[in-house]
Amino acid sequence: IVEARGVTKTFGENQVLKGVDLDVHRGEVVVVIGPSGSGKTTLVRTLNHLEPHDGGIVLVNGETVGYRPGNDGRLIPRSDASMAEQRSNIGMVFQRFNLFPHLSVLENIALAPQQTGLMGREEAQEYARTLLGRVGLAQHASKYPHQLSGGQQQRVAIARALAMKPSVMLFDEPTSALDPELVAEVLEVIADLANDGMTMVIVTHEMKLARDVADWVVFMEDGNVVEAGPPALIFGSEGHERIQRFVRHVS
Ligand code: ATP
Repeated sequence: IVEARGVTKTFGENQVLKGVDLDVHRGEVVVVIGPSGSGKTTLVRTLNHLEPHDGGIVLVNGETVGYRPGNDGRLIPRSDASMAEQRSNIGMVFQRFNLFPHLSVLENIALAPQQTGLMGREEAQEYARTLLGRVGLAQHASKYPHQLSGGQQQRVAIARALAMKPSVMLFDEPTSALDPELVAEVLEVIADLANDGMTMVIVTHEMKLARDVADWVVFMEDGNVVEAGPPALIFGSEGHERIQRFVRHVS
């Protein structure tokens, strides 16, 4: 579903991605770990063009992200409409929940499917209720974001991202803005999604998530993927010595 090849990104003098490859197959959960500043967030943001990459290529569902083939076959930037359509297929959950404060929980979730014409009002609201049930918040539909805890808001943000029926979900450090006691409820929702076969790319500092939920763990350092493999291998005693040091440091 996701194929990134040789992705590079430079901010000023600082090359943050130095030619990253990433493959995510349907139904797979890929967890990206690594020290602060290694480029994890930047990488996940290039996958839906929130951060335009400056070299390499990113494909989602076989389509080039951010660009489309022009008449002469060369890639040209997508129009806003084309970009929005492409993004509607890629769910994104941020560190900060970014809910619309003036909309109820139900409206937050039902908005995008209605605005894009994916669903009518009734259908969008019904689906929003289903999703709220799925993240364990059925009884909070008419509340406003400020009436919820951070963990509940993040669960709403996940439901909102799911509302467009995306083929892949991207998570950028979904629990790092939460108080420690609220982390587990969000991890549980993510684990449920994994069990349901959702394709996901998750940037996190939660080693438990990487160990328990990932099919594939990617360890980044200094703009490169240093190691990638199943969690048993990455975290096992045979794993890369650098990763073992990192894991000891964060856990
Ligand atoms: P963390 O775990 O701390 O979130 P990270 O691995 O996700 O780190 P990134 O957020 O991708 O790392 O950042 C990588 C580098 O790129 C950092 O040095 C950061 O300062 C820089 N960077 C990120 N975004 C920008 C930006 N918009 N402008 C300039 N520099 C940026």
